[in-house]
Amino acid sequence: MADTVDLKTMGRDALEAFVDTLGEPAYRGRQLYNWIYARGETDFAAMTSLPKAFRARLNEEATVSSIDMQRVQRSEDGTLKGLFALPSGREAETVLIPSFDALGDAQRLTVCVSSQVGCAMGCAFCATGLMGFKENLTPGAIYDQVWFMNEAAQEHYGRAVSNVVFMGMGEPLLNYDAVLQSVALLTDEDTLNMSPRRITISTVGLARRIRDLADDDPRTNLAVSLHAPTDEQRSAIMPVNQSEKTSLDALEQAIRYYADTTGRPVTYEYCLFKDVNDSVQDAKNLADITRWAPSKVNILMYNPVPTLSFERTSEAQLNRFVQALVEEGVTVTVRRSRGQDIDAACGQLANA
Ligand code: SF4
Repeated sequence: MADTVDLKTMGRDALEAFVDTLGEPAYRGRQLYNWIYARGETDFAAMTSLPKAFRARLNEEATVSSIDMQRVQRSEDGTLKGLFALPSGREAETVLIPSFDALGDAQRLTVCVSSQVGCAMGCAFCATGLMGFKENLTPGAIYDQVWFMNEAAQEHYGRAVSNVVFMGMGEPLLNYDAVLQSVALLTDEDTLNMSPRRITISTVGLARRIRDLADDDPRTNLAVSLHAPTDEQRSAIMPVNQSEKTSLDALEQAIRYYADTTGRPVTYEYCLFKDVNDSVQDAKNLADITRWAPSKVNILMYNPVPTLSFERTSEAQLNRFVQALVEEGVTVTVRRSRGQDIDAACGQLANA
């Protein structure tokens, strides 16, 4: 077969431009886009509103890939973890996290998507980091995770996905273009029509890309995985911090720029590790960082990875840490682990 192009590597504009190169009118591009992203169709033969000759041409020139959801596991707490295969044959994971109201009905259904297989960032506490970087996901492969988890959400909870967080495998800002294209796909009113305000892009803090995000402004939320409040501590557990370009100084400038440019607050993710970053002084240093720009802090409790030496902070120390933040006037939320029994919790995704 001659070289074909995978249409799932394209967002709307690129797809319509491709159709234009085939000599078809613009509305055929819109139809094709709707078949692929609004209806989830991968087989040109089934796209019956397209003329036969056009479908035959597409068959020669193009393919439509899909992730292959191989299994969905359900945790005791209702969290669902999907294992999917990419067209390359590599596997990655995506997680659906429900939050329930007092009657036990799922209120918010958040999909945690992977943007890469593996990760180059090498954070010392993370199972994904142990794998190293393997592959960037295409816009379509990111989109498909939400698509399939949306189906699972309907099946298990009778509701659509409400939120998306880019906190699965990978560093989203190292797959910047695909991530932004996937956001455009997710928020398109012809597809899943999600509000960008319900989408959060999480980064280890790549300063230059945070500035790009401010300039390109997909109107999503920004979360920064901080995990330590000084350069010395941060560099010890997050190699990314060792570069001047991504140290706390650079991060501060980028975050100030982001907040000034977009007018939106920033969320800091801070995972507590016993005797590493969980002292009252650490909380005070963290409070200083939150004054860079309007912000809030999410405290995460560590999910131990068997091969790593980090330990979970005690409840008593967690309380002291949170109390110190509150006394400093910081807005803080403690996030409890979800899906630990199926290795779906933060930092536990490593199946590839
Ligand atoms: S914590 Fe995030 S950025 Fe760090 S190694 Fe793991 S996946 Fe990569």
